[in-house]
Amino acid sequence: MGILDGWKFCPRCAGRLLPGEGRVTCEACGFVRYANPVPGAQALLEENGRVLLGRRGIEPSAGLWDIPGGFIHETEHPVDALRREFREETGLDVEPVDFLGSWMQAYDEATVLCLTWTARRLGGAARAEDDLVELGWFGPDELPPADELAFDTFVDILSVWRARKEHP
Ligand SMILES: [Zn+2]
Repeated sequence: MGILDGWKFCPRCAGRLLPGEGRVTCEACGFVRYANPVPGAQALLEENGRVLLGRRGIEPSAGLWDIPGGFIHETEHPVDALRREFREETGLDVEPVDFLGSWMQAYDEATVLCLTWTARRLGGAARAEDDLVELGWFGPDELPPADELAFDTFVDILSVWRARKEHP
């Protein structure tokens, strides 16, 4: 599965696209589109030793526990995207504390480059909004099982977080 699978015609001039290594090129107008990952920003908000997760209200993975965050706008700094998405989904103003790492997550036909931080609350009252229908706080030994997590990389992300709690 790749983001350019099934692309046959140029979105600019409707000319025929030629497939290449990780890209498509339009013979007619020279348009080139690369098969890059889609960048996203997300964070594990910590409070009193617990982490905030949100239950998704929409597909993909409706009903499963998500890490708050979302896609980065075209010219937006990742940290600004993190703050914006967190406020939209949880009602909370947050700031990143530590950069945990980057994970590659399959999402529909795309692959999301998930930039992941820990975060702390600056203000606001927690309330599920936007893509989320419920918020929950989880200690290191209370995390949802893998089959209740929205995306498979969350198993690793949460185990990294738990290891930091146990061996700071
Ligand atoms: Zn074209």
